[in-house]
Amino acid sequence: MIYADIIIDISSDKLDRSFQYRVPERLEKTIKAGMVAAIPFGNAGRVCKGYVIGLSDKPKIAPEKIKEISEICSGEETTESRLIALAAWMRENYGSTMIQALRTVLPIQEKIKAKEKKYICLDISEEAGTQLLKELEQTRFKARTRLLRELLEKKRLDYTHAAKELGTTSAVVKKFQEQGIIRIEYDEIMRTSLNTGDISGERRMPLTDEQEAAVKQIQREWKKPSPKPVLIEGVTGSGKTQVYIKLIEQTLSQGKEAIVLIPEIALTYQTVRRFYARFGDKVSVINSRQSQGERYDQFKRAKKGEVQVMIGPRSALFTPFASLGLIIIDEEHEPSYKSESTPRYHARETAIRRAVLEHANVVMGSATPSVEAYSKAMNGEYSLVRLTTRYGSRPLPRVSIVDLREELKAGNRSVLSRELRQKMKGRFEKKEQVMLFLNRRGYAGFVSCRSCGHVMKCPHCDVSLSEHNNERLLCHYCGYETGKPRICPVCGSPYIGGFKAGTQQIEKVVREDFPEVRTLRMDFDTTRTKGSYEKILAAFAAHEADILIGTQMIVKGHDFPDVTLMGIVAADLSLNAEDYRCAERTFQLLCQAVGRGGRGEKPGEAVIQTYHPDHYSIQAAAVQDYQAFYEEEMSYRMLLDYPPAAHMLAVLGSGPEDEKLVQAMYYLKLYIERIYRENDLHIIGPAYASVGKVKDIYRQVIYLKHKDHKTLVHIKDQLEKYIEINSGFRKIYIQFDFS
Ligand code: ADP
Ligand code: ZN
Ligand code: ZN
Repeated sequence: MIYADIIIDISSDKLDRSFQYRVPERLEKTIKAGMVAAIPFGNAGRVCKGYVIGLSDKPKIAPEKIKEISEICSGEETTESRLIALAAWMRENYGSTMIQALRTVLPIQEKIKAKEKKYICLDISEEAGTQLLKELEQTRFKARTRLLRELLEKKRLDYTHAAKELGTTSAVVKKFQEQGIIRIEYDEIMRTSLNTGDISGERRMPLTDEQEAAVKQIQREWKKPSPKPVLIEGVTGSGKTQVYIKLIEQTLSQGKEAIVLIPEIALTYQTVRRFYARFGDKVSVINSRQSQGERYDQFKRAKKGEVQVMIGPRSALFTPFASLGLIIIDEEHEPSYKSESTPRYHARETAIRRAVLEHANVVMGSATPSVEAYSKAMNGEYSLVRLTTRYGSRPLPRVSIVDLREELKAGNRSVLSRELRQKMKGRFEKKEQVMLFLNRRGYAGFVSCRSCGHVMKCPHCDVSLSEHNNERLLCHYCGYETGKPRICPVCGSPYIGGFKAGTQQIEKVVREDFPEVRTLRMDFDTTRTKGSYEKILAAFAAHEADILIGTQMIVKGHDFPDVTLMGIVAADLSLNAEDYRCAERTFQLLCQAVGRGGRGEKPGEAVIQTYHPDHYSIQAAAVQDYQAFYEEEMSYRMLLDYPPAAHMLAVLGSGPEDEKLVQAMYYLKLYIERIYRENDLHIIGPAYASVGKVKDIYRQVIYLKHKDHKTLVHIKDQLEKYIEINSGFRKIYIQFDFS
């Protein structure tokens, strides 16, 4: 006997209110998640329709009380049906409950109003405001005076803050609004800032021959009976965006819609405006700065057919377009395409699955494709398209590698090598701009005792605290903050210091070496407030500074035509991360950083400073040789059975009690050994995760490696069942992570 879980109302947040129905024998073979079923509902013999969200062989209540499905309404497939089918696929392939998967995929209207942030903004000039303030100060309108005074200073105020701190009532707001003194804004979204910008300068640009050939090749692929996903390997500046735009044009002309995924960090005004320039108000953007309500509204507009192109990060993949024709994944290699919460899906695989369900096409692009995607292109699963020349035949920057060990030998202890400093000097003299990139991935600026080596750690997480402005120590995992101690808590020594390699330190060195140079810094500290990121980029573009110093934030998708020198301060910090992908990430970041330079008329140059000048990821990045890197990296992955040579499943356990967790994970490993007896499964662990404790929750992990993905999925299925019935896992949260 099979039972189906059926959900009747998918528009509300009551997704967990599903009902079980018996599946009649004649439907057992056809029924699938996502199908619309007619079911008896209530006692009055009423029939209504619902979505099948899952199937099981276990009744949740007494079997005689379970009613039977009347019918499958075939031909009534909707966008939601397909999204539910996608959720079922995600549940199956990544491991999660069906509810978790549905919540990821369906736009849910959740407590929207409460979450939406409202702002009061000054809508008159500063002079007019000051004048008005003077007048108001003479009156008895104290609340209005307070509000205006604060607005003149801050320009934009949080509504709740104003109500609480300044006693601003809705009557005051209304009055000011009527008088045109203020306007109300909701959580700032990209649309509004874009609409005020001038996009008239952007015209349709004819494709280059190479771009044209790429488009033709993709169109030929699409004409095939079962088109493959396309991977565009295109050097930085080759015009991948031009190609995307052309493909979107074609999709729209067929009455279909397109989704464009861009990593959050690259989702800037500069990238998005090119799509606006071409498609105008057919385009909508979602990003993580929007409130849940705003994102829900964007999805609603897409569903109603009010927009045809949705641009956004990972989650934009689930835009409920009625006839989706194309999914583009830009910067396909970006780690942010993998979800960090259950279901831990990868946008690339999930996009390909959605495309199958929708009969749509997938096009991915990158200058440095992920090893996973490229190996699929190599074995023919994807179709590969190459763009090898930069637009306008601009040469790639000339790159020199500086061995930092040699610098030390020569007595130079500065973070700037002699060569880099020399080149910077030259640029500043010519009034050209410089960027300095500090590769800090997998590295935190920890603080330790110089006498005994004690490292200051977060009391709630198994990570070291890092030093920020004003000698504050901060935990990047839980936000715990404390003052820097005067003496070491272990040995009492007063010599406590940070490891001086942060962006702040580099800025200080630059200022000392070049006192007349104007600097800008972009990192965790300077971009914490809203809008600051865009502001820094705009200021640099407007030549308000000669040098921009920053973390990986500065290497993504911005064109600064006057930057002619890119300095990479410490290329190999990311090589030390405990991850089999660290060489790949290093290579990708360096390529992107090098590719930033020389985009304008003047040729670019880059200096890579490193302690590992012979490492293949650095050597290959210096000459932007993807093929060389790929071959070396693949042989390493094959040797050690890392993806894509094999598949990996991480079973992550977490819980508040250390001992219980250790025990449960140990039993889990024994269980795996019992259910899978072939010796082609590689089991590693259990062991503490690389960060073994976060917010007082302990974390352990077991890694499973196998050649066949299906085997790992099968093991995951059995583990899910085992965990569900075993009381030892009651206070332990198990998550699955495939790679
Ligand atoms: P990629 O995404 O491959 O790094 P972009 O699409 O950002 O490359 O293009 C790089 C630069 O070249 C952009 O400034 C873009 O405007 C310009 N460009 C690319 N193709 C063309 C074209 N066919 N006509 C005019 N300008 C182009
Ligand atoms: Zn000490
Ligand atoms: Zn912490």
